Amino acid sequence: MTHGEANVDSARSYTVQGIVLRHYVLGENDKILVLFTRDQGLKRVVGKGMRKANTRIGGRLEPLRENQIQLAKGRSMDVVVQAEGTQRFPAVMEDLDRLAVAIAAAEVLMAFLEEDDPAPEIYDLYVSLLAALVPGTEPQVLTAAFELQVLDLLGYRPELDACLACERAIETGDEAYALNIEAGGVICDRCGPTTAGRQIRMSAGGWRLLRQLQETPLDALAGVTDEPRRLAGMRRALREYLGFRAEKDLKAQGMFEWIPTTAPA
Ligand SMILES: [Zn+2]
Repeated sequence: MTHGEANVDSARSYTVQGIVLRHYVLGENDKILVLFTRDQGLKRVVGKGMRKANTRIGGRLEPLRENQIQLAKGRSMDVVVQAEGTQRFPAVMEDLDRLAVAIAAAEVLMAFLEEDDPAPEIYDLYVSLLAALVPGTEPQVLTAAFELQVLDLLGYRPELDACLACERAIETGDEAYALNIEAGGVICDRCGPTTAGRQIRMSAGGWRLLRQLQETPLDALAGVTDEPRRLAGMRRALREYLGFRAEKDLKAQGMFEWIPTTAPA
């Protein structure tokens, strides 16, 4: 069965704006694409003939490119008819650290988002992440900012402004604080010893960086960086926070095994 344009019943086709997050091989010729669409959330669709090298549509539907994609209604999964590229992010593919950020963000999206459940603000956040992954930005800073802001949009925003136990406002002094994973935010040093739950120590500098990345648009992070140790500590804390939220989230359960639990070298 072929799917040339001439065979398309236009009443049964529609167009979405989207990015391929991942693809799987299906049989000898085809692929299943996990699409993140702006208006319909995640969609799993079939790309007929896309395993063959050098097909025009297949080239456009490589991961990390934004396309206008025409889909035809299928019995179990909709089928790609046509794809027009709207945006490429060449700098992402040129650097392993930047590519790793884009892939890790795609994993977060696939873990938390529902199929056919629109999340246009999260889509726009992902596009702005891909656009911001250029020379002059720190990949670890962009990852942390994306994760903090996607948590916010998912309804899991970590509380950083006031201690979750005593509600005292956290000041930018040089006290030490802790991020309490279960409670979902910061605990002051007075309440720390008497508060239950896994806590990750945080310096005032680490707290300030998290606050900054929670609020700053991704396209305004050029040149923002910090000490490698602080960046690595922040990454570990956010990985753990995301993993805990994913476990509590029915949809995401069991989908977060990829999170590395050991510290990066
Ligand atoms: Zn407190």
